[in-house]
Amino acid sequence: MAEKPTHEEINQKEILPKASLAQWQTTFDAINDAICLLDMNGKILRCNKAMESLLKKSSEEIIGGICWELVHGTDKPIKGCPIVRMKKTLCRETLILEVDDKWLNVAVDPVIDETGNLTSAVHIISDITRRKQAEEALRESEERLARAVEGISIPTFLIDSNHIVTHWNKACENLTGISAAEILGTRKAWSAFYAEERPVMADLIVDEASEKEIAKYYEGKYNKSILAEGAYECEAFFPDLGEKGKWLFFTAAPLRDQQGKIVGAIETFQDITERRSMEKQLRQSQKMEAIVALAGGIAHDFNNLLTVIIGNTQLALMNVIKDEFLRKKIEETKKAGERAASLTRQLLAFSRKQIIKPLVLDLNEEINEMEKMLKRTIGEDIEFLTVLEPELWKVYADSGQINQIIMNLVVNARDAMPQGGKLTIETANADLDENYFSEHGIKETPGHYVMLAVSDTGSGMDKETREHIFEPFFTTKEVGKGTGLGLSTVYGIVKQNNGFIWVYSEPGKGTTFKVYLPKMKGDEEPEEKEQTPVDEPGGSETVLIVEDDDSLRNLAQKALDQHGYRTLVAENGEEALKVGKEREGPIHLLLTDVVMPKMGGKEAADRLQPLYPQMKVIYMSGYTDNAIIHHGVLTSELNFLEKPFTPEGLARKVREVLKSEN
Ligand code: ADP
Ligand code: MG
Repeated sequence: MAEKPTHEEINQKEILPKASLAQWQTTFDAINDAICLLDMNGKILRCNKAMESLLKKSSEEIIGGICWELVHGTDKPIKGCPIVRMKKTLCRETLILEVDDKWLNVAVDPVIDETGNLTSAVHIISDITRRKQAEEALRESEERLARAVEGISIPTFLIDSNHIVTHWNKACENLTGISAAEILGTRKAWSAFYAEERPVMADLIVDEASEKEIAKYYEGKYNKSILAEGAYECEAFFPDLGEKGKWLFFTAAPLRDQQGKIVGAIETFQDITERRSMEKQLRQSQKMEAIVALAGGIAHDFNNLLTVIIGNTQLALMNVIKDEFLRKKIEETKKAGERAASLTRQLLAFSRKQIIKPLVLDLNEEINEMEKMLKRTIGEDIEFLTVLEPELWKVYADSGQINQIIMNLVVNARDAMPQGGKLTIETANADLDENYFSEHGIKETPGHYVMLAVSDTGSGMDKETREHIFEPFFTTKEVGKGTGLGLSTVYGIVKQNNGFIWVYSEPGKGTTFKVYLPKMKGDEEPEEKEQTPVDEPGGSETVLIVEDDDSLRNLAQKALDQHGYRTLVAENGEEALKVGKEREGPIHLLLTDVVMPKMGGKEAADRLQPLYPQMKVIYMSGYTDNAIIHHGVLTSELNFLEKPFTPEGLARKVREVLKSEN
């Protein structure tokens, strides 16, 4: 060991045999990295082939030269020169250099002799261009990822394996109101979503939490996501988000390295608050439909009963004039019956089964005509104001129904202002596009609508009340004051007319109801049916009465008998045909129910008409949604008698139809 030569000796005294030195040279030349041996002044003592090709010089040119002169063309070591540093530290020093599109890693190792003296330095220069490129590519792809996350409109954040938030995009800022600057680099992703500390889904995934643990935080309302292995999704309400809280659908997935180890997690969100509220609305409207069907069914039967009650009281009144007491009682009965009838009419309107006769209507005219009556209704303490669009589009609607809408809204407004206030009725044309409907979360046909708004400065309503006002029998008024049918009627009418209604109201801030009805289609106005003035309701013509309800049939027969008509009766269409065929004299009028067992009124009329070409027809019904009347709308050519009817009303209608030309 003592004879072991120093490097100096290797170099200067060449104590190694020539063959050995050549062997070393061959070995060095085989190395891909450029290697040279320097003395402490930077003079190059030896170099390998790779060094020659790196410097594009021969070994003769290189050896004996000064490192920095040869490589950098400077007369001093360059700034950061590892040789200089190594002299101080006596350890390996490195420097990364970019030379001619190449990235070089320069390492300098000290050569120390047995006595501990630094004698020379080994310089190893490796081409790390490939590694640099790979690093660059990685950095670029990370930047791309950051940009992609930043750019997408889906609220997204990423955390690393230490729960540190590494990405927090704009959409996430918008959703949570927490900026990236506030949260990046912290472990507090939770703080953007919850008032108290708890892990978010991404945290649980990074911790490789068990399903049981996940269930603990998400109350069993989570699912495994099919999108990625180990990903979970969940739908939950976040009461601290936004003003009123938000419903979010969120998915968190692990991020793994090439070995499959979890190195972070990504979590994305979808704000489903609106969808949720639409679903709620849908459920609400389904509930309404059910109630509507129920109310309609009851009202129909009830109507028939009322027709009998009112009719019989009227007939009785004709005959008991002498007994004043009895007369009073019967009159009261009749009045009560009529009140009940108007209530069922409301129910039927609400259940969309009321007979309606739509005409071309100018809502302004309707309002002007009602003004006097409305002012009387609201009293003097309430200021009445109208703001009417002069060029208002027409609607195709039933005037009675429009009056009902206005009246109900006005009466409610009055009730909301017991201390007085201001009531405003407005009209306007409204062009509603799809956006309007999607913004309001409702499904209606975009197009032209006529708006009718009734506003008051009264008590207003809280959310709880607003949610129920259109339900039948919902009222906040004391017993005897409210029926809870006003707004449900309005709702029914509006729906029947393919319109919709909005309410804007806050407690103490007053209320506005806005009704939108579709603008009438087409320019030509359907001709209004001429009203034939009727003076004498009696007559002597022959009337065939077809009605399956015994008491109604009897009532109609009695009423017409009393007015001098000759009557024939049948229980249904088939029987009516038989009566018609057997009859020898004329039949001037067919008075028939619409829906009957065996054969309906329309068919009976059609089949009797050839036998009696002059015969007129009156249909009577409480329903409109049946064979002859499409969509609850009575075509103007048909004569219609609405149930419940009074004997007088019947006689008048019969007279009117018999007198008419066609
Ligand atoms: P009713 O008037 O018989 O109570 P409605 O169906 O007309 O029934 O109205 C239902 C409820 O809606 C009322 O009891 C009231 O609480 C509320 N409401 C309706 N209109 C208004 C209004 N303009 N201001 C305040 N509350 C109203
Ligand atoms: Mg009311």
